Amino acid sequence: MKFTDFGFDQRLMEGIEASNYEDATPVQEQVIPFILSGKDIIASAQTGTGKTAAFLLPLIHKIITGTYEDGQITAMVIVPTRELAIQIAQHLEGLSYFTSVSSIAVYGGGDGNAFVQEKKALSQGADIVVCTPGKMMAHIKMGYVKLNKLQYLVLDEADRMLDMGFYDDIMFIIKHLPAQRQNLLFSATMPPKIRQLAKNILHHPAEINIAISKPPEKIIQQAFLVYEAQKIPLILQLLSEKKFKAVLIFCSSKLNVKQLTRELKRNGIKAGEIHSDLEQENREDILIQYKSGRLPVLVATDILSRGIDIDNIDLVINFDVPHDGEDYVHRIGRTARAEADGTAFTLVSVKEQRKFLSIEKLIGKEVQKMPLPENLGEQPAYATSFENKYSGKKRKFYNKGTRKK
Ligand code: AMP
Repeated sequence: MKFTDFGFDQRLMEGIEASNYEDATPVQEQVIPFILSGKDIIASAQTGTGKTAAFLLPLIHKIITGTYEDGQITAMVIVPTRELAIQIAQHLEGLSYFTSVSSIAVYGGGDGNAFVQEKKALSQGADIVVCTPGKMMAHIKMGYVKLNKLQYLVLDEADRMLDMGFYDDIMFIIKHLPAQRQNLLFSATMPPKIRQLAKNILHHPAEINIAISKPPEKIIQQAFLVYEAQKIPLILQLLSEKKFKAVLIFCSSKLNVKQLTRELKRNGIKAGEIHSDLEQENREDILIQYKSGRLPVLVATDILSRGIDIDNIDLVINFDVPHDGEDYVHRIGRTARAEADGTAFTLVSVKEQRKFLSIEKLIGKEVQKMPLPENLGEQPAYATSFENKYSGKKRKFYNKGTRKK
């Protein structure tokens, strides 16, 4: 489907062309007509599907073709992390470049200056505000945020926001919004708590389901069964054997991020780290260096696993097995973006084998297990023994009689 089919305003079409978008993605094709018609929606769509433009484009169109009072906030997009807020604000700036839409990103971690600027924008009004829940709540409590004319509310990555404990903050914000408004909820997964949230805030929503809990086929997925102590030496060896343009390594804890980055640097590898202990300014600076190619290796917590849009990553390494299948899909989905190819290695310790098997079940695929380089010593036993050792026993116990041979 072409963008011209939506009947978008010419000024918006120019932004779409300048962004080099030709055809609408499936999520855009399904979501945009509902948003234009004024309906609430609940959409399960992951990052990488074009979901951001799926809500930004119709919002921009409505704002530039409708009549809205100056000095007010017309639309609010609530997102889980500052990185995502910044990225959406940039995306918005690109798409609305040829229009007069005003926007501001409001997120935690900035300095006093940022707060003053945000305060100014929020009290003077902006067409679209992109914000993280905690920071927006803090501003609302100060009493100057112009919310009484708000017409559109977007909750992006709603499952992530609930996982991060933002439910109360979101409900606080919603209590301060006019009851008459259009609500758009996007979530990668649809657990019961998201259904409950949807029930509380959406009005007869259209339901759109484009979630694919499967990574793109073109990503080469491989796993190494290792003992914990072999993880860092293996990464050093993998990085020395083949040249990669941009490598993203995920760890499940800040501690691991710090330790691994230290070891990489000690071995002469230019690596940066991103986790929540770092100041916002440092995080942004490291991301810029990484995006520009000056820093070839980035080690991060899951803070970077969703929504972050860097095109040229050709290797993702899971230093730890992610918590669940969705996180796995999000992490490895950072590679092989657009037309590029990508590889994803997962290091699976003995303790993590069970978690990894459940991920394989979710993605419906057995990930190829790779032999360790000889100099790293023996590797732990393979998943077949795992079947017998853990899950076989358990299943037999719980599902006696129903278990298929
Ligand atoms: P998202 O799922 O919103 O994170 O978008 C993923 C990437 O797809 C971003 O780099 C967008 O700029 C890009 N994108 C979104 N819509 C389109 C489209 N219709 N054609 C080409 N690229 C797109």
